[in-house]
Amino acid sequence: MAKEMFEFQAETKQLLDLMVHSIYTNHEIFLRELISNASDAIDKLHYQSLTNRELLEGDTNFEIHLTPDEAAHTLTISDNGIGMNRDEIIQDLGTIAKSGTKAFLEKLKETKEADEKVTDKDMIGQFGVGFYSAFMVADSVTVVTRKAGETKAYQWESAGDGQYSLEECEKPKHGTTIVLHLGTGFYGSDAEENYTDKNSLESLVKKYSDYIRYPITMEFTVKEKPKDKDGKPIEDAKEEERVETRTLNSMQPLWTRTKSDIKPEEYKEFFQHQFFEWEDPMEIFHTRVEGNVEYTALLFIPGSAPFNLYYSDYEPGIQLYSRHVFIMDKCKDLLPDYLRFVKGLVDSPDLSLNISRELLQQSRELKLMGRNLEKNILKTLTRKLDKDRDAYEKFWAEYGKSLKIGIYSGMMSGENNVEKLKDLILFTSSKDGKLCTLKEYAGRMKEGQKKIYYATGKDKAAIDGLPQMELLRDKDIEVLCMTDPVDEFAVEAIREYDGKQFHSISRGDLDLDDDAFKEEKKKNEDLTKNNEGLLNDMKEFLDGKVVDVRLSNRLKTGAVCLVSDAAGPSLSMEQAFAAANN
Ligand code: ADP
Ligand code: MG
Repeated sequence: MAKEMFEFQAETKQLLDLMVHSIYTNHEIFLRELISNASDAIDKLHYQSLTNRELLEGDTNFEIHLTPDEAAHTLTISDNGIGMNRDEIIQDLGTIAKSGTKAFLEKLKETKEADEKVTDKDMIGQFGVGFYSAFMVADSVTVVTRKAGETKAYQWESAGDGQYSLEECEKPKHGTTIVLHLGTGFYGSDAEENYTDKNSLESLVKKYSDYIRYPITMEFTVKEKPKDKDGKPIEDAKEEERVETRTLNSMQPLWTRTKSDIKPEEYKEFFQHQFFEWEDPMEIFHTRVEGNVEYTALLFIPGSAPFNLYYSDYEPGIQLYSRHVFIMDKCKDLLPDYLRFVKGLVDSPDLSLNISRELLQQSRELKLMGRNLEKNILKTLTRKLDKDRDAYEKFWAEYGKSLKIGIYSGMMSGENNVEKLKDLILFTSSKDGKLCTLKEYAGRMKEGQKKIYYATGKDKAAIDGLPQMELLRDKDIEVLCMTDPVDEFAVEAIREYDGKQFHSISRGDLDLDDDAFKEEKKKNEDLTKNNEGLLNDMKEFLDGKVVDVRLSNRLKTGAVCLVSDAAGPSLSMEQAFAAANN
């Protein structure tokens, strides 16, 4: 088959252009990206070989091998993973199909516009731009690959200039070999960074790829004096050269290591790389459990919520491993949906390697793990709320909505989340504008106050301006400001706290029964009686537009206000329903 030329897809070109012109300062991460691809490819083969051993072609020693060549100015990274066939090469190396890379480009545009101080290096880490990062250090890249179980091998080549070539070739071993033709400045004696230097490569592997589960090997030439029969070097003999293959990484997945031995930077690096994040995590949960069910979990709450957290294109889920072997990327059945922002992984010998998604859903072990982890996370959040209010409020700003939706949707789906979550939600107080819990509100209630009052509006200022607020302010009664449309739905689901019902200030009688209030109420009743004729005339005039016309004691200086029927939906819920029906 002759050599064919292809154009990169437009978005790929754009990305390549960024890479080639190396606006990034941290070139060295290309190695981490290529090694992680090699490791993913071996994972895939490993997994598929569990049901089809023939795919291994008799080669069971998984390995990622580095070959630097200073004279030729090349660095070669090869693996014996799954490899790629022709269609996959065109799809995976020629187009940007992955949402991660698309998101990267969008974020880049966004930050350029907003001129935020996000470094480009961080962004590559976040989105795992992966393969294309090779063009940060290479003038051209050659990929030779053969898919396990297939016979045809292919050579892909590109100088990152908008096109690539593809032709058939020979490759006895399955897997992928990537040759980087290093650009000036990336090899040799006066290079800025020398990616043909074995010691530099070794330390890069240690820095970024130590936990990769397969050996990353490189050949070293060792010069030594020959040894005598006791293993001692012979002093007056001439040094001899010997080639030795060394494994550069410790191969121990981070989560299997003892907690106290792991440095905070290691957790952060792992989190960012494994989950395409660029900020530090807000919270890290690392637990090992033995007993009924055995597992290790390493979960994170990301530093900030993704913009699409509440949209259908956001894919929540936890990675699953069994005895350190990857099984599944986004398992939704482990944690409840209100924790959809949690990222991480669970590794358990109790999970079977070739379990289907359907069977997994019913897995008793998975349910048990999920329940334990949920409890753990809630306990940590409760502790945060008690011990570090600022940190909790930061958490709340990012993820509070998720908990509130959880309370409401739990009611809809028959899974009661009220008990679990009611003490974790916060509202703005009408008094000081600060956030408060329901417990705090209940603890500060006036003597004789029976209800928890709340008001809805677009912000606190709007609520402060409501005519109904006047009276409550006068009586020094605190009102919870609900400025998020889901707030009221959550409160509807909670129904009561500490035996006290929630009461919208725009709904029906405020039921304030202190003495002064009773007096006013009495006066009001008398007035109503005396003005019956007027009220009836008004009601007739507004017929069909209002349910009733009443004299009110909830107004101080405003002449009139709209209130809702005691039994009907509150005004803001009506507005929310109206918006949803449009
Ligand atoms: P990601 O790893 O996030 O999917 P990359 O840009 O790093 O994105 O890689 C793109 C795709 O190219 C991979 O998803 C994979 O399908 C394919 N690929 C890259 N390197 C290899 C490799 N060494 N072996 C097999 N497939 C590979
Ligand atoms: Mg990758």
